[in-house]
Amino acid sequence: MKILSQTDPDVLGLISKETKRQEDGIELIASENYTSKAVMEALGSPLTNKYSEGYIGKRYYGGNEVIDEVEALAIERCKKLFGCEHVNVQPLSGSPANAAVYFATIKPGDKVLGLQLDHGGHLSHGHPVNFSGMLYNFTQYQVDRETGRIDMEKVREIALREKPKMILAGFSAYSRSLDWKKFKEIADEIGAITFADIAHIAGLIAGKAIESPVPYFDIVSTTTHKTLRGPRGAIIMCKEPFAKAIDKAVFPGMQGGPHDHATAAMAVAFHEALQPEFQAYAKKVIENAKVMAAELMDAGLKIISDGTDNHLMVVDVTSKGISGKEAERVLDIAGISTSRSTIPFDPRKPMDPSGVRLGTAAITTRGFDVASTRIVAKFIVDTIENHSDEAKLKSIRENILELCRKYPLYA
Ligand SMILES: *Cc1c(COP(=O)(O)O)cnc(C)c1O
Repeated sequence: MKILSQTDPDVLGLISKETKRQEDGIELIASENYTSKAVMEALGSPLTNKYSEGYIGKRYYGGNEVIDEVEALAIERCKKLFGCEHVNVQPLSGSPANAAVYFATIKPGDKVLGLQLDHGGHLSHGHPVNFSGMLYNFTQYQVDRETGRIDMEKVREIALREKPKMILAGFSAYSRSLDWKKFKEIADEIGAITFADIAHIAGLIAGKAIESPVPYFDIVSTTTHKTLRGPRGAIIMCKEPFAKAIDKAVFPGMQGGPHDHATAAMAVAFHEALQPEFQAYAKKVIENAKVMAAELMDAGLKIISDGTDNHLMVVDVTSKGISGKEAERVLDIAGISTSRSTIPFDPRKPMDPSGVRLGTAAITTRGFDVASTRIVAKFIVDTIENHSDEAKLKSIRENILELCRKYPLYA
């Protein structure tokens, strides 16, 4: 960043500081990942200069002949990757994408069935503080108190009773596979629209490591920056009958100009995800998550649903005499980034809940294998069990720094 170093050392200084933070620590935030340099180069390109409101061949600005090609390439690659009938690649992020989905398909006040936030759902799935909960009439399903899993018979019971216009399947903090087919069957019984939000697991689906809802569901949204390892952004895939309404809802309904540099970076990420190495990556992400879960459970920590089928897990840390917020804080001191998380039926408050959420997408990109992941899990246990021993935390920090040096990020 030679030019930035001359024109704006302040910002360059901050970028350097953040880059170092990423290199020197272990990233276990389940929604994060490291994009390739190719993705970053596309993001840093002159495509950021362009305005291109509208769609391919129908723009409201001149000079879009190349942008049309960029968007067409992203769409073509996305269709190949997920096998979808139609895709809109313009949503600026996950929440705006979901807003566009509701906007396209239901009316304010309509009933929607989604997973409750503190049971693993997302804010945009009907939480009262979010636009979704304010505009639409959400009813929510939960996980089972004993198993920590979604009970499809319960979902069916609620669906038949409440008769929602739409059934939403998707999560931010649930470590088990969803039964897409069953969701679709239930929705068909009551004539509801099916909407899957695969923001967290899109990369695992693209890498063919877990089942895709695309063949079954009417609409599937996802962010592109989590396990999918692309730029910040989102896409909406749908069956042909919904295509027009979805496109109209994104533009002009919700947004103005798309971020063309991000569209180009998506095309790069889709290309990467189409390679055989990405399938190997997706498989390894899950292997690492399973190893981490097993290691933590061996140490006496409770994992919601007693394990994981994907990249993430929610860990109840309270048995070690510590809260989720405190665990997040001491893990940060040790050099491990996590995010505090509520657990289902959490007796504690959301700002200081009982759990932390961990994910293995980023460390797997960095090259961590099963053995290194096991070491990371041991550091987590060590940190939580010695959370008030400052000297011990400092020595763990040193060890983690050493481990990170073995896996250089940007060297
Ligand atoms: C992350 C996430 C989103 C929102 O993405 P943003 O880009 O942060 O708006 C939406 N849905 C689910 C399930 C998510 O996990």
